[in-house]
Amino acid sequence: MKPRRAPQSGQISYNTSQQQLNEVVAIIKLDPSAHELLRHPLRELHVTLSVKMDNGSTKIFQGFRVQHNDSRGPNKGGIRFHPDETIDTVRALASWMTWKTAVMDIPLGGGKGGVICDPKAMSTGELERLSRAYVRQLGDFIGPEKDIPAPDVYTTPQIMAWIADEYSIMHGKNKFGVITGKPLSLGGSAGRTDATARGGIYCVRLAAATLGLNLEGAEAAIQGYGNVGSYAHKLAVELLGMKVIAISDSNGSIYNPEGFLYEGVMAHKKNTGSITGFPGAAAISNKELLELDVAVLFPAALDSVITETNAMDIKAKIIAELANGPTTPEADTILYKKGVYIIPDLLCNAGGVTVSYFEMVQNAYGNYWEEEEVQQRLEKKMKTAFLAVLRTGQNHKVHNRLAAYIVAVERVAEAMKLRGWY
Ligand code: NAD
Repeated sequence: MKPRRAPQSGQISYNTSQQQLNEVVAIIKLDPSAHELLRHPLRELHVTLSVKMDNGSTKIFQGFRVQHNDSRGPNKGGIRFHPDETIDTVRALASWMTWKTAVMDIPLGGGKGGVICDPKAMSTGELERLSRAYVRQLGDFIGPEKDIPAPDVYTTPQIMAWIADEYSIMHGKNKFGVITGKPLSLGGSAGRTDATARGGIYCVRLAAATLGLNLEGAEAAIQGYGNVGSYAHKLAVELLGMKVIAISDSNGSIYNPEGFLYEGVMAHKKNTGSITGFPGAAAISNKELLELDVAVLFPAALDSVITETNAMDIKAKIIAELANGPTTPEADTILYKKGVYIIPDLLCNAGGVTVSYFEMVQNAYGNYWEEEEVQQRLEKKMKTAFLAVLRTGQNHKVHNRLAAYIVAVERVAEAMKLRGWY
């Protein structure tokens, strides 16, 4: 089993997430006690893991699990296995999950976990022992009614399967609902693989309708061609009739004004390991890709790629943030003034966590839905969330990112108030 590449360029800081919260608190005049509650995770657990390595030695690893806020329901969020993992990043990402689940109005809170390790330098057996050691140390800190992890950077459905198995052994019965992103044969959900891209494509359709923009035959560019970026290509063509004229991966960017065929690019990537060198395509720079005059730009790789340095040169009409954190706050302000329509990450890439929630529901009932049903339910959730963000932005006269935060913070604050937390 090969762990997937880490797409993040840098570490997301807890300070940034605090700044975003401060901005919203000032707009909605949130009670100071509620603000103080939201500034800190409700709980966090630091664990030390002892793992037998293949060479007979024992290696000690540090791990974390952070539960930011569960006022609306059990905590939900991925597990990262990364050499540069920090508690600061895990705290920030846990708070983003609180906001993301609240924007989507799914009855969950925000959590995140991580283990400082280099999965690329570990064998399959070592990874399995590490995953099982992590879940044993977390013990009942996680659970189907408390905190439900999922895959994230460098963690895979196979790792989710080991975690589901170890947790089931610990409890003497099958408890697959402890984790999502599992393989289908162990209670995974149909429609999870393309859910993040699909949710983003539904948002693009709604954004275009809002702007009066015709997407049939319109051009798109995609940065990143992993799980999310490649499905964005497939679905932009299939569902929106768009023409994808530029794509990129970590090796480079390619351009063809006639548009790329998804099947052809995937076959080339399978054979060569990259999208670069695709027959008939011109090589362009990453900067050129981001600055193309397209209807929709999909950042689907890294954080902080649209900054104050290049924001003025962005010509796309819609930026659909499939990646987490691709636009910096400075760039946000510039793009808002320029009239670029941003679908913020909290909303645009929330299709993944939404189908993870569907997976939890199916596990709880032992009743599994057809892919078509998953897609219909996802579309309905995305539309409701999109409209809530749109109306909030119009009411407060703020850009979509701030609007998404307002929707989320107000919902979480309401739940905390009703529960008597402030
Ligand atoms: P992935 O590892 O499958 O793919 C990442 C892609 O980015 C790869 O094609 C890689 O080559 C490319 N890339 C790396 N560096 C690049 C660079 N400098 N320029 C251009 N491309 C580069 O990851 P993924 O699951 O597709 O996730 C992509 C983004 O979407 C991440 O920001 C992730 O946090 C976010 N996201 C993913 C999900 C999900 O369900 N997978 C859900 C929410 C958010």
